[in-house]
Amino acid sequence: METTVALAGNPNSGKTCLFNELTGARQHVGNYPGVTVEKKEGKFTRNGHTIHIVDLPGTYSLTAYSVEEVVARDFLVNDRPGVVIDIVDASNLERNLYLTVQFLEMGFPMVIALNMGDVAKKRGIDIDIEKLSILLGVPVIPTIARTGNGKEDLMDAAIRIAQEEKQRMPLIVSYGDDIDGALIEMEEIINTNVFLTGTYPARWIALKYLEGDEQIMSKGQKRNPGVSKQLENITGRVSDHLQKTLNIYPEAIIADHRFGYINALARQGVITLRDSHDRLYTSDKIDKVVTNRFLGPIIMIGVLMGLYHFTFTYSEVPVGWLESFFGWLGNAVSTHMPDGLLRSLVISGIIDGVGGVLGFVPLIMFMFFGIALLEDSGYLARVAFMLDRVFRVFGLHGSSVMAYIVSGGIAGGCAVPGVMATRTLKSPRERLATLLTAPFMNCGAKLPVFALLIAAFFEKHEAMMMLVITLISWMGALLIAKLLRSTIIKGEAMPFVMELPPYRLPTFRGLAIHTWERTWQYIKKAGTIILAISVILWAMMTFPGLPDSQRQEFDKERTAVMAAVNTDTVHELEAAGDNVELSLGAVELRGHLAAIDSREADAGLRNSLAGRTGIALESVSKWAGFDWRTNIALIGGFAAKEVVVSTLGTAYSLGDVDPEESGSLSEMLSKTPGWSPLAALSLIIFTIFYAPCFVTVVMIVRESGSWKWGLFSMAFNTLVAFLSAVAVFQIGSVIGMGI
Ligand code: GDP
Ligand code: MG
Repeated sequence: METTVALAGNPNSGKTCLFNELTGARQHVGNYPGVTVEKKEGKFTRNGHTIHIVDLPGTYSLTAYSVEEVVARDFLVNDRPGVVIDIVDASNLERNLYLTVQFLEMGFPMVIALNMGDVAKKRGIDIDIEKLSILLGVPVIPTIARTGNGKEDLMDAAIRIAQEEKQRMPLIVSYGDDIDGALIEMEEIINTNVFLTGTYPARWIALKYLEGDEQIMSKGQKRNPGVSKQLENITGRVSDHLQKTLNIYPEAIIADHRFGYINALARQGVITLRDSHDRLYTSDKIDKVVTNRFLGPIIMIGVLMGLYHFTFTYSEVPVGWLESFFGWLGNAVSTHMPDGLLRSLVISGIIDGVGGVLGFVPLIMFMFFGIALLEDSGYLARVAFMLDRVFRVFGLHGSSVMAYIVSGGIAGGCAVPGVMATRTLKSPRERLATLLTAPFMNCGAKLPVFALLIAAFFEKHEAMMMLVITLISWMGALLIAKLLRSTIIKGEAMPFVMELPPYRLPTFRGLAIHTWERTWQYIKKAGTIILAISVILWAMMTFPGLPDSQRQEFDKERTAVMAAVNTDTVHELEAAGDNVELSLGAVELRGHLAAIDSREADAGLRNSLAGRTGIALESVSKWAGFDWRTNIALIGGFAAKEVVVSTLGTAYSLGDVDPEESGSLSEMLSKTPGWSPLAALSLIIFTIFYAPCFVTVVMIVRESGSWKWGLFSMAFNTLVAFLSAVAVFQIGSVIGMGI
């Protein structure tokens, strides 16, 4: 006998391993017609039977969203292999069975290779193979593809199935009242019209219409436009109804129920966990509460609030230490270095710039620790699970949640890996919408900006403010995603399997490693990129400096002030160190001179390259409440968001020359006229939404495959940021928040 066997399964389930074990050197590698997906074929002989083996591309599903899925599906339907061998990773059974269920629904003659039993055993998972085989109605053969164990049994089973006369009935999964009703109605239309039934089972065709499968629908339209229209109408009706009642698309319900089927299967004793206390079972019990429709969101907000409270409360003391340290360092340098450009570079450019960013290391560390705790325990997966439903409404889905969280959804991530994380999204439109909105999350670089402004203006409500900032960025990101998905990246949403891994008790070691890795990244960035940009911005804020004529004006003023008092007072002041008691006249003189110095420094900063740019922008930025110094900082922030803090540090350091007046940057901001809680809030909003940093833009270009999306995100985000900041500032001013 000769027959063809297709090896199908999820990526990394062991298909290629098994293929190599079966065919040895007798392989041929080509391509599937018209696409670049590799097609591997080979031969296996046993007891006089010759079996052609084809290694299909790995897929998680049989929808038509990716090339691999279309290739695998077309091969199975058009070439009709005698048997499909579904390779299932036993250590990840439930997820792998999602594809199995779809094979079964198509009614293929099938054998399951239950692979990686060794891994499953190590993880404490016992699988009742016989029960699984009975419940699914197909042979299940344990294999270890890496060693070739079980391959003969597998091929024997395949030969047996290929020789069988009777056809196996397609599996029928119940999809709930609404969809089941529609399916019956549609099946009848399909069967009476013999609509594509030569190729696919009737129920399956109906399901594909409900899932909005473009490939099947266009085939149907070609075959019989009238029947296709009828099916589309039913689909539209059901979809509208589900939208209204459950706020969900049919394909999402279909995915839910397939998973529900697998869950039920597993619970019927197919899977047992050997651990001393049943991890999965405990997880289920916890999830009943934690992902509950009503309690879940409340718990989620509570957890976030707890995290922020913990971070701000416990980091306050060490942040204070670092601030005093950098203050001390600045003073020490200023007394030991001669006045001049170099001193200005070291103090204003480096210590006040980079020091401002490094000062927040303890806060960053506490935040990362808390997030590592949520991640390692498995709680973040619950957050993604709960938000999946919400996200679908906005044209995104569950994997988008993870991309958001990686980008700093809880605070302190990074949009660069966040944009890369969107690769798990198969549908190109949802992926694009996700990667364009992920940079709105609060990455680790924005955190010091918020921390600075919160410390200066919202000291009494730190955790609350952080929660508000988080909610604003999520709501903004979702609304913008919705806007994009209903204008320039229109298209249907795609169903997705949300996994709920069991809860785990995090180890202290694991937490410490995670925390340190991320904190070290932050420190390294401050010491390299941020340092370089700070120096550049310092130069832009220092040069060209004041013209000689103006400098002479200030000198004249100083001479005049000194001439007005008697010479003894001048001598007294010149001779006095910092801590000597001065006469009233000398104190007054010192005040006058300091005021002149300060005005001179301010004039110098205004005349600098950066200063002039900042001032030029003021006519626009004043609508959002930003003065020229803030403008300089925001321009610096295009390179990296931490630079907003370091630049403000440098700007205020250059403008202020009296060491007795200077406090921490946040104290200085809170005392500067023109700054107010409202201006700070406006700046916070702007920082959340404006152009992604340079590295992220590069990543967006790479991942979207077009520089246009990079430019788009820079221009569009900045526009959104500016308009929102203006709205907040103007409305706030009207209702009297600005005082
Ligand atoms: P494919 O993506 O389905 O083609 O998967 P591969 O054949 O490339 O296998 C993925 C990985 O799993 C490889 O590192 C294999 O060595 C490993 N692997 C495959 N089968 C087994 C198995 O039964 N046990 C163990 N421990 N590892 C396996
Ligand atoms: Mg492979």
